Amino acid sequence: MAEFTMELNDEQKEVRDWIHGFAADVMRPAAAEWDEREETPWPVIQEAAKIGLYSLDFYAQQFFDPTGLGIPMTMEELFWGDAGIGLSIVGTGLAAVGVLANGTEEQIGTWVPQMYGDVNDVKVAAFCSSEPDAGSDVAAMRTRAVYDEAKDEWVLNGTKTWATNGGIANIHVVVAVVDPELGSKGHASFLVPPNTPGLSQGQKFKKHGIRASHTAEVVLENVRVPGHCLLGGKEKLDERLARARERAKAGAERVKNAAMATFEASRPAVGAMAVGTARAAYEEALEYATTRSQFGRPIIDNQGVAFQLADMRTQIDAARLLVWRASWMAVTGKPFTSAEGSMSKLFASEVAKKVTAQAVQILGGNGFTREYPVERMHRDAAIYTIFEGTSEIQRLVIARTLSGMPIR
Ligand SMILES: Cc1cc2nc3c(=O)[nH]c(=O)nc-3n(C[C@H](O)[C@H](O)[C@H](O)COP(=O)(O)OP(=O)(O)OC[C@H]3O[C@@H](n4cnc5c(N)ncnc54)[C@H](O)[C@@H]3O)c2cc1C
Repeated sequence: MAEFTMELNDEQKEVRDWIHGFAADVMRPAAAEWDEREETPWPVIQEAAKIGLYSLDFYAQQFFDPTGLGIPMTMEELFWGDAGIGLSIVGTGLAAVGVLANGTEEQIGTWVPQMYGDVNDVKVAAFCSSEPDAGSDVAAMRTRAVYDEAKDEWVLNGTKTWATNGGIANIHVVVAVVDPELGSKGHASFLVPPNTPGLSQGQKFKKHGIRASHTAEVVLENVRVPGHCLLGGKEKLDERLARARERAKAGAERVKNAAMATFEASRPAVGAMAVGTARAAYEEALEYATTRSQFGRPIIDNQGVAFQLADMRTQIDAARLLVWRASWMAVTGKPFTSAEGSMSKLFASEVAKKVTAQAVQILGGNGFTREYPVERMHRDAAIYTIFEGTSEIQRLVIARTLSGMPIR
């Protein structure tokens, strides 16, 4: 039985320092350029691949860290380096987790390595769930998947939006409706292999922050994928749909939703990204406050500034603790009876928004310019309260979990 400890072990510290080195030496110097270019930083992804930081092996190792801290530690350091480049590096992992969560062993073994490509030819993957009329309201999804039994193929039609790496990905994981009567219980996920006819990129979004990360619409027009591209396989899908239909017929009000448990386990990773950005901005602000003088003394000599820094640091540490708790719960199989995963994402993302705004304020006019990185960090931080479920949706999930009520 492991003893309780708040410390990373030696191996974890070594990995953390190694990621930090890459974040400081490679990501930070490149951050402003790729933010301005608003393009996927392929050369940086390639550098990460060269040292093994962009690879299935590395993420699998962190994913299976028995303490649960491998992934949050990785996310915090990468996003401390830069959020836009960070998402370009870990975006593939979001699609890979979709396959790990629902795929068969064969599907995982065949497709996940292809998502990363190899050192000389790096690839990215995309996870496509959101649609123009189905963001928070996932059940409103309209993209259809229809089975063509004669050919053992699924035919996908619809428009996905906001897909990170959408259209530039080697492999797209697409969530689609297989039974419209069943709401979100009638959804299934499909792998769309490279160069499949009918899949195209729609508009690429020009964004407020994380601009190095590619975000675009994905249009699916009669996209045919082989039967084996249905994640989990047809037999499992048919069983799941039959169970859902029976429950619907019996009028069962609340069924335990496996997808919710997956979200609880994945949301702390987004919380950790937010902690990374918040910590980066706090460090810039602390440095500035001790070196910038006004009225003949460093500005940190004013309580108005010093107390802000005290609050910033306290909130960042509190956010990290919530993230670590939820990550530990996920890996040790503890039930999320209070939606602790959602709690950690809610708190950390709100902290990142607040702390980066305070950092801009502490840097004064300089904080408002692109000469200093806090301006970019502030723009980047705005994403954390939006993707992987907005703050309002996190509150909804927490409130429903606590009360057992169908709070709307
Ligand atoms: C940069 C970026 C990258 C993304 N990457 C991906 C990706 O890779 N794959 C993917 O599938 N999606 C992705 N998304 C989509 C993201 O998850 C959605 O934007 C998010 O879920 C919110 O959906 P929406 O934008 O449609 O907002 P809406 O759902 O329309 O919400 C608008 C506002 O209404 C509020 N609201 C909605 N319903 C309620 C309610 N019941 N109670 C209270 N308030 C409510 C929301 O909180 C929000 O403030 C990405 C988004 C962005 C911006």
